[in-house]
Amino acid sequence: MIKFDIITIFPDQIESFASVGVLRIAQNIGAIDIKAHNLRNWTHDKHKSVDDRPFGGGAGMILKVTPIKEALDQLRTPNSKVILMSASGEILDQDTFRSLAGWDNEKQKYDSTDKHYIIICGHYEGVDDRVREHLIDFEMSIGKYVLSGGELPALILADGITRLLPGVLGNELSPMLESYEGELLDYPQWTRPADYQGWQVPDVLLNGNHKEIEAFRKNLATKLTQSRQNTKK
Ligand code: SAH
Repeated sequence: MIKFDIITIFPDQIESFASVGVLRIAQNIGAIDIKAHNLRNWTHDKHKSVDDRPFGGGAGMILKVTPIKEALDQLRTPNSKVILMSASGEILDQDTFRSLAGWDNEKQKYDSTDKHYIIICGHYEGVDDRVREHLIDFEMSIGKYVLSGGELPALILADGITRLLPGVLGNELSPMLESYEGELLDYPQWTRPADYQGWQVPDVLLNGNHKEIEAFRKNLATKLTQSRQNTKK
C-alpha cells in the first residue's frame, strides 16, 4: 500500500482528480490511500494566512514555512518521504515513477513494503526556501515550465506511480510494455471498426498470426522511436 498525503491550498483539485479513473480504482482495491490536506488547517490567525511577502521585496507571495512545518510534524511517520513539487526540482521520468512505486531496475522484483509519500504543493511565487533546506527528501519538477501551483504536478506524480502498482491496471504486463519502459516507444494500435470511411487498419493485425503481428509491431515501434529520436538509452 502506498499512502499519499498531499499538502495543498486547493484540496478540491486533488480530491476531484482522485475520485475517478485509475486513482479511484487503486483506492478501492487498497493499493493506495490518497488524502488532500488543506494547509490552512495548520494556521492560527484569524485570516488563516498561508502566505506572506518576500523578504527583500519583489512580486508575489511566498508560502510560509510555519504551517508547512506543523503539517509535516503531524503527518510524518518514520517511513515517510517528503517531496516538494518545484519548477526547479529534478525532472520526473518513468524511472523515477518505477522506483517510487517499488520496482527494481530490471522490473523483476517488486518491493511491497508500505510506502508513505507526503507531497507539498507550492503556490504563488513559491515556498519559503527553509522548507527545501530543512524539511524535504526530494524536490521534483514535471518539466521545464512554470505552472501556477503544485497540485497538477502532485497528481501527475501520484498517477504515474499508482498505475505501476500490481493489480491496478487489469493486465499485469501492460505498464511494462509501454513507452519509456524499454528501449522502444510503444507501437501504434487500432480498434474496431477495421475500416472507417476508407481509413484502414493494417491487414496483418487482422490475420491472427501472432508471430507476424509481433514482428510488425516491433518494426513500427522501431521506426517510431527512430523518427522521434527519443530512445531512453
Ligand atoms: N517562482 C517559482 C515558480 C513558482 S510556481 C520559479 O520560478 O521557480 C508556484 C508553485 O507551482 C511552485 O512552488 C511549485 O510547487 C508548482 N510548480 C510550478 N511549476 C512546476 C513544475 N514544472 N513542476 C513542479 N511543480 C511546479
